[in-house]
Amino acid sequence: MATMPAVFIGHGSPMNALEDNRFTDSWAAFATSLEKPSAVLAISAHWYINATAVTSMSEPRVIHDFYGFPQELFDFQYPAPGDSQLAQHVGEIVDPVWVGLDDETWGIDHGTWSVLAHMFPDADVPVVQLAIDASQPVEYHIDLGARLAPLRDEGVLILASGNVVHNLRAIEWRAQDQGFDWAQRFDDDARAILSSDPSMLGTLAQSDDYRLAVPTPDHFLPLAYLAGLASADARTPVAFVEGCTMGSLSMTSYVIL
Ligand code: ZN
Repeated sequence: MATMPAVFIGHGSPMNALEDNRFTDSWAAFATSLEKPSAVLAISAHWYINATAVTSMSEPRVIHDFYGFPQELFDFQYPAPGDSQLAQHVGEIVDPVWVGLDDETWGIDHGTWSVLAHMFPDADVPVVQLAIDASQPVEYHIDLGARLAPLRDEGVLILASGNVVHNLRAIEWRAQDQGFDWAQRFDDDARAILSSDPSMLGTLAQSDDYRLAVPTPDHFLPLAYLAGLASADARTPVAFVEGCTMGSLSMTSYVIL
């Protein structure tokens, strides 16, 4: 079996689940370029807890973890099955990192389903989510990402879903496809590091723009998993769609082949 690519998707607004735009089109096009994965391991910004854990239930619930959006979005379902074997396997391959098995708390959140709705609209690929441990530094997440690399040879699609730049306080809903200068600059800096030495992703914290671009680490840290996967295979991530929207969101997405 060929090595499965791994991706970081800039997911942006939950409304992207229902919309078609140049970003969602790029997600769908990426999926059609793949052999069908055996499963998806999703690392979503929206499962941000003080532990490292994976979902292990056979029928993960669909979590509508947002407010102030149309009813149509709350009604949206993505009934993909889980994969308890993969959940256990993740715990084995990242040993000695300890991974909790969650068979009742979480499920599939919108960081995952808003993207998979475009990639695999039939919801026929099993999905396991990996929580982001909020108590750990960026280096931990880069290392954990590297430990996941063997899954790529087992047909598992690793989907990291966040946003390189994500500042909801600064958002301007009407500024479609536009970014503030600081947002664009930080997005460019991230691309420069990823295309030279992804293992150095943590140095972005020293950027003058970091405080505005990454006011909280939740949407940035999924990128650390792709950085780790890239380092493990001596690859550099390539951006397959780029740009900011609503002023303070980067929608740039990366793949490693
Ligand atoms: Zn989000």
